[in-house]
Amino acid sequence: MFIDGEWVESSDGKYQYVINPATEEPFAQFPLATEKDVDKAVRAAYRAFREWSKTSLEERRKLLRSAADNVEKRANEIARLLTREQGKPLKQAEDELRNAAYVLRFFAEEIFRVYGEIIPLPVKNYESRVIWQPIGVVAAITPWNYPVQLLSWKVGASLAAGCTIVAKPPSYTPISPIKFIECVAEAGFPKGAVNIVTGSGKTVGETLVTHPLVRKVSFTGSTDVGKRIMSLCASGLKRITLELGGHTPMIVFADCDLDKAVKGAVRRSYRNMGQICNAISRIYVERPIFNEFVERFVEETKKLKIGDPLQDPNADLGPMCNKETFDKVIEHLEDAVKKGAKILCGGKRPEGERFKKGYWFEPTVIVNVNHDMLIMQEETFGPVKPVMPFDTVEQAIDWANSTRYGLAAYVYTNNYKTINIMSTELEAGNIGINNVDVSTTEAPYPGWKESGLGCDLGREGLKHYLEIKHIKTFYG
Ligand code: NAP
Repeated sequence: MFIDGEWVESSDGKYQYVINPATEEPFAQFPLATEKDVDKAVRAAYRAFREWSKTSLEERRKLLRSAADNVEKRANEIARLLTREQGKPLKQAEDELRNAAYVLRFFAEEIFRVYGEIIPLPVKNYESRVIWQPIGVVAAITPWNYPVQLLSWKVGASLAAGCTIVAKPPSYTPISPIKFIECVAEAGFPKGAVNIVTGSGKTVGETLVTHPLVRKVSFTGSTDVGKRIMSLCASGLKRITLELGGHTPMIVFADCDLDKAVKGAVRRSYRNMGQICNAISRIYVERPIFNEFVERFVEETKKLKIGDPLQDPNADLGPMCNKETFDKVIEHLEDAVKKGAKILCGGKRPEGERFKKGYWFEPTVIVNVNHDMLIMQEETFGPVKPVMPFDTVEQAIDWANSTRYGLAAYVYTNNYKTINIMSTELEAGNIGINNVDVSTTEAPYPGWKESGLGCDLGREGLKHYLEIKHIKTFYG
């Protein structure tokens, strides 16, 4: 762990193993922080805040750029660790590292564009000035599906804003975030400005969130844990950003470009084995093209290659990250089949000796689905995709909006009126029209309904690490 400028063990010497999901074998271990360790990290961040919050924007930009350089230099090395603990193909892990570096560079520049305001007043000799100031110590808690990239959103924004940070990475994939923090720390931030403590969410996470010197909690993870964190932050009225789970619908209209729709469906259904907050969870297809879409979607799904994420450069898919998620996929699939769903492809472990151990699962398409099935309501976070026909725009909107989530929605159509209606009527923070890549560093990434509160990314995301202040001056 990195606390107050030093690499340290847990104060009681306890460790936990990290499992390689491709083999179910342990390959590394990480320290389990005690309450004392967490307290030390938060106090260090609190002390460092005094100095860091007053640094010039140029100084922050210089250090963030240098941190980004370090991440880029070590991208390949850290990507191997990321693949070993998370399971995604190596090329995608390398992309994740490069994207994290890009995010640091983005916030280093974006902080120059957070403007204050002079507000015109109805009386003379008074001036109202509005400025933005850093909040204080940020606790950053992140999940295992994009363990480096999601941490970069919080580290980049905190440090650019002038906040200091204590990060707690996920216990399934703590190693690549630790290495990422090493790259950031080596840029030369003041002692205590950046810290990382490891251990379970229930103990280390809650100790961190409830520490009285933490002023802001930035959390990315499941909706249930997000709600728990919100309740823990209530008594201190801590600032919170919650980036939570989703149940993303894809809606395909008969007038769309079918090639593009099928390509988008495959990309956002199975990338990272469907373990993405904005992965497609259900596909609604307008009835006249339903059969053709399904046929082509199944055909393309079957072409995906499952293979060793570290050794096989042609592998599109690796294993799922952990047993918990693997078991949930099977539970949701079994529930759907029991209620009448039909499996068109996949639905099981791949054949072969190589796949007997590890959390491997074939990409799966199911039809004959209805909204009573768990898979149509709860986040599956895996590679099983239900497809259902719809008849009218209204029906598509009602069904798309029928879950408690509201993170993202994708629409494929070439009709400008339909684009307009869907853009306004869908209850989601991020809408992709004729594309499935809604998360973009430059734009906010908000979750509606039970998918979040506030947002990361973009200028709006950066402002969530700043407090607004009104200064009224009398010049008379
Ligand atoms: P999770 O179980 O909620 O865990 C996320 C993080 O919170 C981990 O670091 C975890 O630590 C920690 N944690 C768990 N319980 C805690 C508690 N009581 N207090 C404080 N911290 C606690 O989520 P996950 O399974 O890692 O990630 C998958 C979820 O994240 C999905 O729902 C996905 O949609 C969501 N997600 C959302 C976004 C977004 O931007 N909206 C992006 C990516 C993922 P441990 O690992 O030690 O348990």
